[in-house]
Amino acid sequence: MAIFYFSSDSGRNRAPMYSQAAHALTSIFMAAESNPDAPLEALLVQARQAAEHSYSPYSKFRVGAALRLTNGAVVTGTNVENVSYGLTICAERSALVAAVSQFGPQIRIEAVAVANLNSAASPPCGACRQMLAEFVQPDAPVLFPAEDGPRTMPFSEIFPLAFEMKLK
Ligand SMILES: [Zn+2]
Repeated sequence: MAIFYFSSDSGRNRAPMYSQAAHALTSIFMAAESNPDAPLEALLVQARQAAEHSYSPYSKFRVGAALRLTNGAVVTGTNVENVSYGLTICAERSALVAAVSQFGPQIRIEAVAVANLNSAASPPCGACRQMLAEFVQPDAPVLFPAEDGPRTMPFSEIFPLAFEMKLK
C-alpha cells in the first residue's frame, strides 16, 4: 500500500485563500486502497515531485502536474508565477506545453495527476481544463486533491462542455 504524506508544516507557506480548504484535509493521503490504479498513483508521485520546482513566491502555493501520454511518456510541469500575477501559468498548462514541445502536436493525454505541497484542494482551474481538452482523451482519469481528499474523475466529467470551434 502506498501512502503519500503531504506536508504538515505548510502553514507558513500557505496562501490565505487556501487555508480553510487545507484545514479540512488530512495530511495523509492513502491512495492505494481507495484507488486501485497503481500507475495513476505513480503519476501522482511525479506530480508531487514536480511541485518541488514550483516558482510561487507570491502565493506560496506549490503545485505540480503530471501527464501520461498515449506514447507512454510522462511529462510534468509546475506553476510559474510572475510579479504581474496575470501572467502566472498553472502546473497543468506548464506540463501541457512541455508535452507538446517535446513530442509534437499529435500527442494524446491518457491520464492526469495534480498535486500540491500545501495540503489544499486544487482541482484544475477552468483555463487548464479548456487547454487540456484540446489534447486529452475524454475518459482520461484526472486525479487531484479535493476538499475531502484525493479524487479521480474522468476528464469529460470535470469539463463536460468544452468550447469547440465549429464554423459553418
Ligand atoms: Zn490552471
